[in-house]
Amino acid sequence: MATSSAPLFMIMLGAPGAGKGTQARMLSEVLGLPQVSSGDIFRENLKLATALGLLAKGYMDRGELVPDDVTIDMVMDRLNRLDCAGGAILDGFPRTLAQAEALRRALAARDFRVSLAPLLEVSDDAVIDRLAGRRVCRDCQAMYHVAFSPPKVDGTCDKCGGQLYRRADDEPETVRNRLFVYYKQTAPLVGYYFAHGVLVTIDGDRPIEAVQADLLAAVRAV
Ligand code: ADP
Ligand code: ADP
Ligand code: ZN
Repeated sequence: MATSSAPLFMIMLGAPGAGKGTQARMLSEVLGLPQVSSGDIFRENLKLATALGLLAKGYMDRGELVPDDVTIDMVMDRLNRLDCAGGAILDGFPRTLAQAEALRRALAARDFRVSLAPLLEVSDDAVIDRLAGRRVCRDCQAMYHVAFSPPKVDGTCDKCGGQLYRRADDEPETVRNRLFVYYKQTAPLVGYYFAHGVLVTIDGDRPIEAVQADLLAAVRAV
């Protein structure tokens, strides 16, 4: 649905629990672009017990960011795959100014750029409620919420029948730290993408479909 044939690289911005993953997945299906989620790639590495997964585990458990160098290498590897030639929807990356600059340079080397950075604005209280009830499919990573977006059958993924689980870092104690880390390290990206003329602010404190409609309108306006 992208209006031009230029590759569309978009960055989902927002606090943990703002709805980035939920929205990125829906956009990915509608636009036919891959969803690149750094958190999902880390969790996949953790499941496979790779060296990267083991390195990331401690940081993830504490709700801290994994160091920039390994994170940047990991995401650049993913973006260099053929399916990203027409663009991608990035969710959870970049999370620091250093990551944003690394991404800008890598895209510029291919004559590409980030053309849209929607910020999903959601209050801290709403984010805490969302993370407390978040459930994720073990097999396909689909996202649910026990109250706001429940599966048809308790504990089972609607899409693939997989088992749903609660992320260890969604415990309230870790969530508070993740929010602090967000404001300190990631919130500066809002100013960064504003300065690059690609920031679009969206009220994320509304039903999933209403947020999705605004995101699609923003994509069409690119
Ligand atoms: P959420 O969906 O709550 O925003 P993610 O699934 O994106 O969380 O990330 C989970 C964890 O993975 C983060 O708390 C962090 O430890 C690590 N992580 C994910 N993306 C990045 C990144 N771009 N830079 C550093 N660490 C990251
Ligand atoms: P993020 O990737 O930003 O951490 P998620 O997409 O994982 O956020 O969403 C966090 C939780 O909130 C999930 O349980 C999801 O089902 C739920 N959720 C997402 N968007 C909304 C919304 N607009 N209203 C209510 N709940 C939502
Ligand atoms: Zn599933």
